[in-house]
Amino acid sequence: ETLASLEAKIVECRRCPRLVEWRERVAVEKRAAFADETYWGRPIPGFGVAQPRVLIVGLAPAAHGGNRTGRLFTGDRSGDWLFASLYRVGLANQPTSTHADDGLELRDTRIVAAVRCAPPQNKPTTQERDNCAPWLDVELRLVAPSLRTVVALGTIGWDAALRAFRGAGWEVPRPKPKFGHGAEATIVTPYGELLLLGCYHPSQQNTFTGKLTEPMLDDVLGRAAGILPA
Ligand code: SF4
Repeated sequence: ETLASLEAKIVECRRCPRLVEWRERVAVEKRAAFADETYWGRPIPGFGVAQPRVLIVGLAPAAHGGNRTGRLFTGDRSGDWLFASLYRVGLANQPTSTHADDGLELRDTRIVAAVRCAPPQNKPTTQERDNCAPWLDVELRLVAPSLRTVVALGTIGWDAALRAFRGAGWEVPRPKPKFGHGAEATIVTPYGELLLLGCYHPSQQNTFTGKLTEPMLDDVLGRAAGILPA
């Protein structure tokens, strides 16, 4: 398996009937502001470099963000926050992301989602999370040799990362590390120590309410980038 062959399989996946129906319906109905655009309307593969030092595990694509542009966090408010911060800490070449060929390049970083299709209300079911987990297992194995830090966005990203670590046969600390903003755990892998960092998801629910601020996001991503002490 290679990242390219994995991507080819992911974009064809129809394992979750509810999400297939939703992602395709949204792509036809569209939001008025994007009425002239052709929505992607399919699963979204990982985005970023092939040999990352940092892997960011998000929740799921947004209906009118990734599900529209075909690239994770691209064209939505969460992405505005995430890419601006990645730029500030040196992990992206530009602070904005509007569409799939906007020139954005990540440095040392790859972004994936725990669930690769947009779910209604951004809430995948447990079954849908189970269905999608094998894709992350494969992707993690492919990028593991270069990986030093995994940033998990929200509880769902955190749980998906821990589950993928276990799937790779890596020992996860017991009791299970608890998610929080800035929480960390060290995982021993055949390639050395891997740092898992928790980060509140930059969703509007968190950014509008001030639960997550720009300095808080920069703090975690700066640690992942190695410009702040871990
Ligand atoms: Fe397939 Fe994952 Fe999409 Fe479900 S969420 S259809 S498993 S890609």
